[in-house]
Amino acid sequence: MTTTRTAIVTGAARGIGAAVATRLAADGLAVAVLDLDEAACQGVVDQITAAGGSAIAVGVDVSDEAKVAEAVERVATELGAPTVLVNNAGIIRDNMLFKMTTDDWDAVMGVHLRGAFLMSRACQKHMVDAGSGRIVNLSSTSALGNRGQANYSAAKAGLQGFTKTLAIELGRFGVTVNAIAPGFIATDMTRATAERMGVTFEQFLEGAAKQIPVGRVGQPDDIAQAASFFVDERSGFVSGQVLYVAGGPTS
Ligand code: NAP
Repeated sequence: MTTTRTAIVTGAARGIGAAVATRLAADGLAVAVLDLDEAACQGVVDQITAAGGSAIAVGVDVSDEAKVAEAVERVATELGAPTVLVNNAGIIRDNMLFKMTTDDWDAVMGVHLRGAFLMSRACQKHMVDAGSGRIVNLSSTSALGNRGQANYSAAKAGLQGFTKTLAIELGRFGVTVNAIAPGFIATDMTRATAERMGVTFEQFLEGAAKQIPVGRVGQPDDIAQAASFFVDERSGFVSGQVLYVAGGPTS
C-alpha cells in the first residue's frame, strides 16, 4: 500500500508557487497551499480539489517563528506529516545600494532566508521521523549578481549555501535538499519590475526573450517541472544541487 505524501508549498497563492502546488497535486501529493493571506490560497485549493486532488489553504507569514510552527503542526494534523517542503515565498524590494533602506534589506532577508530557515526547521522533524523527505528552495539567477538587487541577490545566494548545508546534514535521514534558480519567469513579480522600470509588461517580456537562448521567457510551469523532478521519490540520489532553469546557460 502506498501512502499519500504531504507537501507544503510557500507563497503558493499565485505565480510559481501556485504552479508548483498544482503540479505536485497532479503528481499525487496532498498539498498545503501556504501564503500570507489564507483566502487568497482558496483558488489554488479549489483547482486542485476540482481535479481530484487533496489540498488545504494555510495563511501564515513565513518569517513569523511562532506562526510557522503552528502552521506546520496544523498541516500535519489536517493533511498528514509534511515530508515535502518547497520554500518559494518571496518578495523584492529593489533599489541601488545608496538608496536601499535597512527595512528593504531586512524585509527581503526575512522572507527568503529567515522564512526558509523557519519552515525547514519546523518540517525536518516530520521528515526525519518518516525517514524520507524533500526540500526544494527557490533561488534565482540573481544569486550571481544583479544591479539594483543587493538584498535579493544576497538572499538568493544565501539560499544556495543553506541548500548545500541542509543536504549534508539531512542526507542520512533520507532527506534530499536542492535549489532551483529560475531566470526570467512571467509572474506578478516580474510585472512589478517592469512597472518600476517604467516599461509595459509586454515590452519587458519581449526585451527579456531576446536575451534568452531558447527565445522565450519562462512560465511558472517551467519551474513546476523542475520541482516535480526534485520531489519525486526516484530522485533520492540528487542532493545539494542548484539547477538553473533559465532557458540557457547563466554565464
Ligand atoms: P510572486 O508572484 O510575487 O509570488 C510570491 C508569493 O509569495 C505571493 O503569493 C506572496 O504573497 C507570497 N509571500 C510573500 N511574502 C510572504 C511571506 N512572508 N509569507 C508567506 N508568503 C509570502 O512571485 P513569483 O515570481 O511567483 O516568485 C516565486 C519565487 O521564485 C520567489 O522566491 C522568487 O524570488 C523566485 N524567483 C522568481 C523569478 C521570476 O522571474 N518571477 C525568478 C527567479 C526567482 P502576497 O501576494 O500576499 O504578497
